[in-house]
Amino acid sequence: MASKEVKIKTPIIEMDGDEMTRVIWRLIKDKLIKPHLDVELLYYDLHVRNRDKTDDKVTVDAANAILKYGVGVKCATITPDDERVKEYNLKKAWPSPNGTIRSILDGTVFRKPIVVKNVPPAVRSWKKPIIIGRHAYGDIYKAVDFVVPGAGKAELVYTPESGDKVSLVVHEFKGPGVLLGMHNTNKSIRSFAQACINYAFSEKKDIWFGAKDTISKKYHAKFKEIFQKEVDARKDDLAKAGVTYRYMLIDDAVAQMMKHEGGILWACMNYDGDVESDMVASGFGSLGLMTSVLVSPDGKYEFEAAHGTVKRHYYEHLKGNSTSTNSTASIFAWTGALAKRGEMDGTPEVVEFAKKLEASVIETIESGVMTRDLTRVCEPPTDKYVTTEGFIDSVARNLESKLK
Ligand code: NAP
Ligand code: MG
Repeated sequence: MASKEVKIKTPIIEMDGDEMTRVIWRLIKDKLIKPHLDVELLYYDLHVRNRDKTDDKVTVDAANAILKYGVGVKCATITPDDERVKEYNLKKAWPSPNGTIRSILDGTVFRKPIVVKNVPPAVRSWKKPIIIGRHAYGDIYKAVDFVVPGAGKAELVYTPESGDKVSLVVHEFKGPGVLLGMHNTNKSIRSFAQACINYAFSEKKDIWFGAKDTISKKYHAKFKEIFQKEVDARKDDLAKAGVTYRYMLIDDAVAQMMKHEGGILWACMNYDGDVESDMVASGFGSLGLMTSVLVSPDGKYEFEAAHGTVKRHYYEHLKGNSTSTNSTASIFAWTGALAKRGEMDGTPEVVEFAKKLEASVIETIESGVMTRDLTRVCEPPTDKYVTTEGFIDSVARNLESKLK
Protein backbone atom coordinates (compact mmCIF):
# COMPACT_ATOMS: atom_id res chain seq x y z
CA MET A 1 0.00 0.00 0.00
CA ALA A 2 1.67 3.19 -1.14
CA SER A 3 -0.65 5.77 0.35
CA LYS A 4 -1.44 5.92 4.03
CA GLU A 5 -5.01 4.73 3.88
CA VAL A 6 -5.62 4.01 7.53
CA LYS A 7 -6.22 7.14 9.56
CA ILE A 8 -6.23 7.23 13.35
CA LYS A 9 -8.60 9.81 14.81
CA THR A 10 -7.14 10.45 18.25
CA PRO A 11 -3.44 10.90 19.05
CA ILE A 12 -1.57 8.01 20.69
CA ILE A 13 0.97 8.65 23.43
CA GLU A 14 4.34 7.23 22.42
CA MET A 15 7.04 6.68 25.05
CA ASP A 16 10.49 5.90 23.69
CA GLY A 17 12.97 4.00 25.85
CA ASP A 18 16.46 2.56 26.21
CA GLU A 19 19.09 0.23 24.78
CA MET A 20 18.17 -2.64 22.43
CA THR A 21 14.45 -2.02 22.71
CA ARG A 22 15.04 1.57 21.56
CA VAL A 23 16.80 0.21 18.47
CA ILE A 24 13.85 -2.13 17.83
CA TRP A 25 11.36 0.68 18.48
CA ARG A 26 12.82 2.74 15.66
CA LEU A 27 12.70 -0.21 13.25
CA ILE A 28 9.08 -0.98 14.13
CA LYS A 29 8.04 2.63 13.59
CA ASP A 30 9.93 3.04 10.33
CA LYS A 31 9.04 -0.29 8.76
CA LEU A 32 5.67 -1.31 10.18
CA ILE A 33 3.83 1.77 11.42
CA LYS A 34 4.75 4.95 9.54
CA PRO A 35 4.48 3.55 5.99
CA HIS A 36 0.88 2.46 6.54
CA LEU A 37 -0.78 4.68 9.10
CA ASP A 38 -1.76 8.30 9.32
CA VAL A 39 -1.36 8.72 13.07
CA GLU A 40 -0.48 11.59 15.35
CA LEU A 41 2.01 10.31 17.91
CA LEU A 42 2.57 12.48 20.96
CA TYR A 43 6.21 11.64 21.60
CA TYR A 44 7.76 11.46 25.07
CA ASP A 45 11.39 10.46 25.20
CA LEU A 46 11.87 8.30 28.30
CA HIS A 47 15.52 7.62 27.49
CA VAL A 48 17.31 7.55 30.82
CA ARG A 49 19.36 10.65 29.91
CA ASN A 50 16.24 12.62 29.10
CA ARG A 51 14.58 11.55 32.34
CA ASP A 52 17.71 12.78 34.08
CA LYS A 53 17.75 16.04 32.13
CA THR A 54 14.08 16.78 32.92
CA ASP A 55 14.35 15.60 36.55
CA ASP A 56 11.94 12.81 35.51
CA LYS A 57 9.24 15.33 34.58
CA VAL A 58 8.99 13.69 31.14
CA THR A 59 7.68 10.48 32.74
CA VAL A 60 5.03 12.33 34.73
CA ASP A 61 4.01 14.32 31.63
CA ALA A 62 3.68 11.12 29.60
CA ALA A 63 1.47 9.53 32.26
CA ASN A 64 -0.74 12.62 32.40
CA ALA A 65 -1.03 12.57 28.62
CA ILE A 66 -2.29 8.96 28.81
CA LEU A 67 -4.87 10.13 31.34
CA LYS A 68 -5.95 12.83 28.91
CA TYR A 69 -6.04 10.84 25.64
CA GLY A 70 -6.64 7.29 26.88
CA VAL A 71 -4.06 5.13 25.07
CA GLY A 72 -0.25 4.94 25.21
CA VAL A 73 2.49 2.63 23.98
CA LYS A 74 5.79 2.35 25.82
CA CYS A 75 9.25 1.05 24.97
CA ALA A 76 11.20 -0.73 27.73
CA THR A 77 13.25 1.61 29.91
CA ILE A 78 16.18 1.34 32.29
CA THR A 79 15.31 1.50 35.96
CA PRO A 80 18.56 3.00 37.20
CA ASP A 81 20.48 1.36 40.03
CA ASP A 82 23.88 2.52 41.36
CA GLU A 83 25.66 0.91 38.43
CA ARG A 84 23.45 2.72 35.90
CA VAL A 85 23.89 6.03 37.74
CA LYS A 86 27.63 5.68 37.11
CA GLU A 87 27.23 4.36 33.55
CA TYR A 88 25.06 7.30 32.45
CA ASN A 89 26.41 9.85 34.92
CA LEU A 90 22.91 10.52 36.32
CA LYS A 91 21.95 13.01 39.02
CA LYS A 92 20.34 10.16 40.96
CA ALA A 93 18.74 6.73 40.68
CA TRP A 94 15.38 7.90 39.30
CA PRO A 95 12.42 5.70 40.19
CA SER A 96 11.10 3.05 37.83
CA PRO A 97 9.09 4.78 35.05
CA ASN A 98 6.63 1.91 35.13
CA GLY A 99 6.09 2.47 38.85
CA THR A 100 5.57 6.20 38.30
CA ILE A 101 3.10 5.68 35.45
CA ARG A 102 1.30 2.92 37.35
CA SER A 103 0.75 5.12 40.36
CA ILE A 104 -0.49 8.10 38.28
CA LEU A 105 -2.92 5.86 36.39
CA ASP A 106 -3.80 3.90 39.55
CA GLY A 107 -3.48 0.95 37.20
CA THR A 108 -3.33 -2.82 37.21
CA VAL A 109 -0.87 -4.70 35.01
CA PHE A 110 -2.05 -7.58 32.81
CA ARG A 111 0.52 -9.88 31.24
CA LYS A 112 -0.51 -11.87 28.21
CA PRO A 113 1.55 -14.46 26.32
CA ILE A 114 1.48 -14.56 22.51
CA VAL A 115 0.76 -18.09 21.35
CA VAL A 116 2.37 -19.43 18.16
CA LYS A 117 1.86 -23.00 16.92
CA ASN A 118 5.52 -23.99 16.68
CA VAL A 119 6.32 -22.84 20.22
CA PRO A 120 4.17 -25.24 22.24
CA PRO A 121 3.50 -24.33 25.90
CA ALA A 122 5.36 -26.47 28.42
CA VAL A 123 2.01 -27.46 29.95
CA ARG A 124 0.19 -29.81 27.60
CA SER A 125 -3.32 -28.60 28.34
CA TRP A 126 -2.57 -24.90 27.72
CA LYS A 127 -3.95 -23.95 24.31
CA LYS A 128 -4.88 -20.27 24.73
CA PRO A 129 -3.13 -17.46 26.58
CA ILE A 130 -3.45 -17.30 30.34
CA ILE A 131 -3.55 -13.64 31.28
CA ILE A 132 -2.33 -12.67 34.71
CA GLY A 133 -3.73 -9.57 36.40
CA ARG A 134 -1.53 -8.67 39.34
CA HIS A 135 -2.64 -6.37 42.12
CA ALA A 136 0.52 -4.31 42.32
CA TYR A 137 0.00 -2.54 45.63
CA GLY A 138 0.69 -3.46 49.24
CA ASP A 139 0.91 -6.78 51.10
CA ILE A 140 4.53 -7.89 51.58
CA TYR A 141 5.71 -5.31 49.01
CA LYS A 142 4.88 -2.46 51.39
CA ALA A 143 5.40 -4.30 54.65
CA VAL A 144 7.32 -3.53 57.78
CA ASP A 145 9.34 -6.48 58.98
CA PHE A 146 11.39 -7.07 62.03
CA VAL A 147 13.88 -9.58 63.37
CA VAL A 148 12.79 -10.44 66.88
CA PRO A 149 15.94 -10.71 69.00
CA GLY A 150 14.51 -12.72 71.88
CA ALA A 151 11.58 -13.44 74.17
CA GLY A 152 8.83 -10.80 74.26
CA LYS A 153 5.30 -9.95 73.23
CA ALA A 154 4.47 -8.81 69.69
CA GLU A 155 1.34 -6.74 69.24
CA LEU A 156 -0.57 -5.18 66.36
CA VAL A 157 -1.66 -1.68 67.37
CA TYR A 158 -4.13 0.55 65.54
CA THR A 159 -4.54 4.13 66.74
CA PRO A 160 -7.61 5.69 65.10
CA GLU A 161 -7.76 9.44 64.35
CA SER A 162 -10.43 9.57 67.00
CA GLY A 163 -11.53 6.86 69.38
CA ASP A 164 -9.84 4.09 71.28
CA LYS A 165 -6.67 2.24 70.41
CA VAL A 166 -7.01 -1.40 69.38
CA SER A 167 -4.20 -3.85 70.15
CA LEU A 168 -4.03 -7.49 69.23
CA VAL A 169 -1.44 -9.96 70.39
CA VAL A 170 0.39 -11.44 67.41
CA HIS A 171 2.64 -13.81 69.35
CA GLU A 172 4.26 -14.30 72.73
CA PHE A 173 7.83 -15.01 71.67
CA LYS A 174 9.75 -17.43 73.90
CA GLY A 175 12.93 -16.81 71.91
CA PRO A 176 14.18 -15.15 68.69
CA GLY A 177 12.05 -15.08 65.54
CA VAL A 178 10.71 -12.81 62.81
CA LEU A 179 7.72 -10.51 62.53
CA LEU A 180 5.90 -8.83 59.63
CA GLY A 181 3.23 -6.10 59.48
CA MET A 182 1.48 -5.60 56.17
CA HIS A 183 -1.52 -3.74 54.87
CA ASN A 184 -3.78 -3.00 51.96
CA THR A 185 -6.55 -0.45 51.38
CA ASN A 186 -10.16 -0.90 50.28
CA LYS A 187 -9.59 1.76 47.63
CA SER A 188 -6.67 -0.09 46.06
CA ILE A 189 -8.43 -3.45 46.16
CA ARG A 190 -11.50 -1.87 44.54
CA SER A 191 -9.39 -0.30 41.76
CA PHE A 192 -7.76 -3.67 41.16
CA ALA A 193 -11.14 -5.43 40.91
CA GLN A 194 -12.50 -2.72 38.59
CA ALA A 195 -9.46 -2.88 36.31
CA CYS A 196 -9.79 -6.68 36.11
CA ILE A 197 -13.48 -6.42 35.29
CA ASN A 198 -12.80 -3.75 32.60
CA TYR A 199 -10.09 -5.86 31.06
CA ALA A 200 -12.15 -9.07 31.11
CA PHE A 201 -15.11 -7.21 29.65
CA SER A 202 -13.08 -5.68 26.82
CA GLU A 203 -11.27 -8.96 26.02
CA LYS A 204 -14.32 -11.18 26.63
CA LYS A 205 -12.40 -13.41 29.03
CA ASP A 206 -13.72 -15.22 32.09
CA ILE A 207 -12.22 -14.13 35.41
CA TRP A 208 -10.75 -16.37 38.09
CA PHE A 209 -9.75 -14.87 41.39
CA GLY A 210 -8.01 -16.88 44.07
CA ALA A 211 -7.10 -16.05 47.66
CA LYS A 212 -6.87 -17.88 50.97
CA ASP A 213 -9.90 -16.62 52.88
CA THR A 214 -10.32 -19.89 54.78
CA ILE A 215 -7.09 -19.10 56.64
CA SER A 216 -7.00 -15.31 56.45
CA LYS A 217 -10.58 -14.69 57.51
CA LYS A 218 -10.27 -10.91 57.58
CA TYR A 219 -7.42 -9.87 55.26
CA HIS A 220 -7.96 -12.24 52.33
CA ALA A 221 -11.68 -12.31 53.00
CA LYS A 222 -11.77 -8.54 52.42
CA PHE A 223 -10.32 -9.04 48.93
CA LYS A 224 -12.94 -11.69 48.19
CA GLU A 225 -15.75 -9.46 49.48
CA ILE A 226 -14.69 -6.34 47.54
CA PHE A 227 -14.10 -8.28 44.33
CA GLN A 228 -17.55 -9.85 44.58
CA LYS A 229 -19.18 -6.46 45.21
CA GLU A 230 -17.55 -4.98 42.10
CA VAL A 231 -18.58 -7.99 40.02
CA ASP A 232 -22.17 -7.63 41.29
CA ALA A 233 -22.15 -3.95 40.32
CA ARG A 234 -21.29 -4.90 36.71
CA LYS A 235 -23.44 -8.06 36.65
CA ASP A 236 -25.56 -7.06 33.64
CA ASP A 237 -22.59 -5.90 31.53
CA LEU A 238 -20.66 -9.09 32.26
CA ALA A 239 -23.66 -11.30 31.54
CA LYS A 240 -24.25 -9.51 28.22
CA ALA A 241 -20.61 -10.05 27.26
CA GLY A 242 -20.80 -13.71 28.35
CA VAL A 243 -18.04 -13.16 30.93
CA THR A 244 -18.21 -15.29 34.08
CA TYR A 245 -16.53 -14.77 37.46
CA ARG A 246 -15.25 -17.53 39.74
CA TYR A 247 -13.73 -17.18 43.15
CA MET A 248 -11.70 -20.11 44.41
CA LEU A 249 -9.04 -20.85 46.94
CA ILE A 250 -5.62 -19.98 45.55
CA ASP A 251 -4.29 -23.55 45.79
CA ASP A 252 -7.37 -24.83 43.99
CA ALA A 253 -6.84 -22.16 41.28
CA VAL A 254 -3.21 -23.24 40.81
CA ALA A 255 -4.18 -26.92 40.53
CA GLN A 256 -7.03 -26.25 38.10
CA MET A 257 -4.93 -23.90 35.95
CA MET A 258 -2.56 -26.78 35.17
CA LYS A 259 -5.43 -28.75 33.67
CA HIS A 260 -7.16 -25.84 31.96
CA GLU A 261 -6.89 -24.87 28.29
CA GLY A 262 -6.35 -21.18 29.12
CA GLY A 263 -8.05 -18.21 27.51
CA ILE A 264 -8.94 -16.71 30.89
CA LEU A 265 -7.95 -13.81 33.11
CA TRP A 266 -6.36 -14.95 36.34
CA ALA A 267 -6.64 -12.12 38.86
CA CYS A 268 -3.96 -12.47 41.53
CA MET A 269 -3.08 -10.85 44.81
CA ASN A 270 0.30 -9.13 44.72
CA TYR A 271 2.58 -12.01 45.77
CA ASP A 272 0.62 -14.63 43.82
CA GLY A 273 0.82 -12.43 40.71
CA ASP A 274 4.56 -11.99 41.10
CA VAL A 275 5.13 -15.75 41.36
CA GLU A 276 2.47 -17.05 38.96
CA SER A 277 3.31 -14.58 36.18
CA ASP A 278 6.86 -15.92 36.05
CA MET A 279 5.54 -19.47 35.92
CA VAL A 280 3.10 -18.61 33.12
CA ALA A 281 5.75 -16.64 31.18
CA SER A 282 8.27 -19.43 31.16
CA GLY A 283 5.51 -22.00 30.53
CA PHE A 284 4.58 -20.17 27.33
CA GLY A 285 8.12 -20.07 25.96
CA SER A 286 10.01 -16.77 25.95
CA LEU A 287 10.06 -13.30 27.43
CA GLY A 288 10.07 -12.08 23.84
CA LEU A 289 6.53 -13.46 23.53
CA MET A 290 5.01 -11.76 26.56
CA THR A 291 3.07 -8.50 26.37
CA SER A 292 1.89 -6.32 29.15
CA VAL A 293 -0.88 -3.75 29.50
CA LEU A 294 -1.58 -1.33 32.30
CA VAL A 295 -5.30 -0.62 32.75
CA SER A 296 -6.68 2.11 34.99
CA PRO A 297 -9.99 1.65 36.82
CA ASP A 298 -11.57 4.25 34.51
CA GLY A 299 -10.36 2.52 31.35
CA LYS A 300 -7.07 4.16 30.27
CA TYR A 301 -4.54 1.82 28.63
CA GLU A 302 -0.77 1.65 28.36
CA PHE A 303 0.79 -1.16 26.31
CA GLU A 304 4.35 -2.51 26.42
CA ALA A 305 6.51 -5.62 26.12
CA ALA A 306 6.96 -7.43 29.45
CA HIS A 307 10.73 -7.75 29.02
CA GLY A 308 13.43 -5.17 29.76
CA THR A 309 15.83 -3.29 27.50
CA VAL A 310 17.84 -6.45 26.63
CA LYS A 311 21.14 -4.89 27.70
CA ARG A 312 23.39 -7.78 26.67
CA HIS A 313 22.20 -7.62 23.06
CA TYR A 314 22.59 -3.83 23.02
CA TYR A 315 26.23 -4.07 23.99
CA GLU A 316 26.77 -6.52 21.10
CA HIS A 317 24.97 -4.06 18.82
CA LEU A 318 27.24 -1.22 20.02
CA LYS A 319 30.29 -3.32 19.16
CA GLY A 320 28.94 -3.58 15.62
CA ASN A 321 28.00 -7.26 15.98
CA SER A 322 24.74 -8.53 14.55
CA THR A 323 21.96 -9.28 17.04
CA SER A 324 18.94 -11.55 17.06
CA THR A 325 16.52 -9.84 19.43
CA ASN A 326 12.87 -10.80 19.36
CA SER A 327 10.66 -7.81 18.58
CA THR A 328 7.36 -9.71 18.82
CA ALA A 329 6.27 -8.37 22.20
CA SER A 330 7.21 -4.80 21.22
CA ILE A 331 5.23 -5.09 17.97
CA PHE A 332 2.27 -6.43 19.96
CA ALA A 333 2.53 -3.42 22.26
CA TRP A 334 1.89 -1.28 19.16
CA THR A 335 -0.92 -3.47 17.86
CA GLY A 336 -2.54 -3.53 21.31
CA ALA A 337 -2.49 0.27 21.43
CA LEU A 338 -3.74 0.63 17.85
CA ALA A 339 -6.57 -1.86 18.31
CA LYS A 340 -7.67 -0.22 21.56
CA ARG A 341 -7.54 3.24 19.95
CA GLY A 342 -9.59 1.95 17.02
CA GLU A 343 -12.11 0.39 19.39
CA MET A 344 -12.45 3.61 21.40
CA ASP A 345 -12.66 5.79 18.27
CA GLY A 346 -15.11 3.50 16.51
CA THR A 347 -12.73 2.99 13.56
CA PRO A 348 -12.84 -0.72 12.67
CA GLU A 349 -10.26 -0.26 9.89
CA VAL A 350 -7.66 0.58 12.56
CA VAL A 351 -8.53 -2.58 14.52
CA GLU A 352 -8.32 -4.51 11.26
CA PHE A 353 -4.83 -3.13 10.54
CA ALA A 354 -3.66 -4.17 14.02
CA LYS A 355 -5.01 -7.69 13.46
CA LYS A 356 -3.22 -7.95 10.13
CA LEU A 357 0.05 -6.85 11.69
CA GLU A 358 -0.33 -9.43 14.49
CA ALA A 359 -1.13 -12.14 11.96
CA SER A 360 1.97 -11.14 9.96
CA VAL A 361 4.18 -11.64 13.01
CA ILE A 362 2.64 -15.00 13.93
CA GLU A 363 2.83 -16.30 10.36
CA THR A 364 6.46 -15.20 10.13
CA ILE A 365 7.38 -17.26 13.19
CA GLU A 366 5.18 -20.19 12.15
CA SER A 367 6.91 -20.24 8.75
CA GLY A 368 10.19 -20.89 10.61
CA VAL A 369 11.60 -17.34 10.45
CA MET A 370 12.50 -16.60 14.06
CA THR A 371 14.98 -14.96 16.38
CA ARG A 372 17.50 -16.94 18.39
CA ASP A 373 15.53 -17.04 21.67
CA LEU A 374 12.83 -19.16 20.00
CA THR A 375 15.14 -21.70 18.36
CA ARG A 376 15.59 -23.44 21.70
CA VAL A 377 11.90 -23.67 22.60
CA CYS A 378 10.32 -24.22 19.19
CA GLU A 379 9.12 -27.54 17.82
CA PRO A 380 11.17 -29.00 16.17
CA PRO A 381 14.21 -27.15 17.60
CA THR A 382 16.44 -25.53 14.99
CA ASP A 383 19.83 -23.85 14.57
CA LYS A 384 18.53 -21.39 12.00
CA TYR A 385 17.73 -17.86 13.10
CA VAL A 386 17.50 -14.38 11.62
CA THR A 387 18.85 -11.02 12.79
CA THR A 388 16.83 -8.39 14.63
CA GLU A 389 16.41 -6.43 11.37
CA GLY A 390 15.84 -9.58 9.29
CA PHE A 391 12.87 -10.57 11.44
CA ILE A 392 11.20 -7.16 11.17
CA ASP A 393 11.85 -7.04 7.41
CA SER A 394 10.18 -10.40 7.06
CA VAL A 395 7.16 -9.22 9.06
CA ALA A 396 7.04 -6.06 6.91
CA ARG A 397 6.92 -8.12 3.69
CA ASN A 398 4.17 -10.31 5.12
CA LEU A 399 2.19 -7.25 6.17
CA GLU A 400 2.54 -5.60 2.76
CA SER A 401 1.13 -8.67 1.05
CA LYS A 402 -1.87 -8.60 3.42
CA LEU A 403 -2.55 -4.92 2.76
CA LYS A 404 -2.54 -5.25 -1.05
P1 NAP B 1 15.82 -8.12 30.00
O1 NAP B 1 15.95 -6.94 29.15
O2 NAP B 1 14.42 -8.61 30.21
O3 NAP B 1 16.69 -9.29 29.37
C1 NAP B 1 17.17 -10.41 30.09
C2 NAP B 1 17.54 -11.52 29.13
O4 NAP B 1 16.35 -12.13 28.62
C3 NAP B 1 18.29 -11.05 27.88
O5 NAP B 1 19.65 -10.91 28.11
C4 NAP B 1 17.94 -12.12 26.89
O6 NAP B 1 18.63 -13.33 27.15
C5 NAP B 1 16.49 -12.40 27.23
N1 NAP B 1 15.54 -11.53 26.52
C6 NAP B 1 14.70 -10.60 27.05
N2 NAP B 1 13.95 -10.05 26.10
C7 NAP B 1 14.34 -10.61 24.93
C8 NAP B 1 13.94 -10.42 23.59
N3 NAP B 1 13.01 -9.54 23.24
N4 NAP B 1 14.55 -11.16 22.64
C9 NAP B 1 15.50 -12.04 22.95
N5 NAP B 1 15.90 -12.28 24.21
C10 NAP B 1 15.33 -11.56 25.19
O7 NAP B 1 16.49 -7.86 31.39
P2 NAP B 1 17.91 -7.20 31.73
O8 NAP B 1 18.79 -7.21 30.52
O9 NAP B 1 18.32 -7.86 32.96
O10 NAP B 1 17.53 -5.72 32.08
C11 NAP B 1 17.91 -4.64 31.29
C12 NAP B 1 17.22 -3.38 31.77
O11 NAP B 1 15.82 -3.50 31.58
C13 NAP B 1 17.43 -3.06 33.23
O12 NAP B 1 18.05 -1.80 33.34
C14 NAP B 1 16.02 -3.01 33.82
O13 NAP B 1 15.88 -1.91 34.68
C15 NAP B 1 15.14 -2.84 32.61
N6 NAP B 1 13.79 -3.41 32.70
C16 NAP B 1 12.78 -2.67 32.17
C17 NAP B 1 11.50 -3.16 32.12
C18 NAP B 1 10.42 -2.30 31.51
O14 NAP B 1 10.67 -1.20 31.10
N7 NAP B 1 9.23 -2.80 31.44
C19 NAP B 1 11.22 -4.43 32.59
C20 NAP B 1 12.28 -5.21 33.10
C21 NAP B 1 13.56 -4.68 33.14
P3 NAP B 1 20.04 -13.75 26.50
O15 NAP B 1 21.04 -12.79 27.06
O16 NAP B 1 20.21 -15.14 27.02
O17 NAP B 1 19.94 -13.67 25.02
MG1 MG C 1 8.32 -12.24 39.68
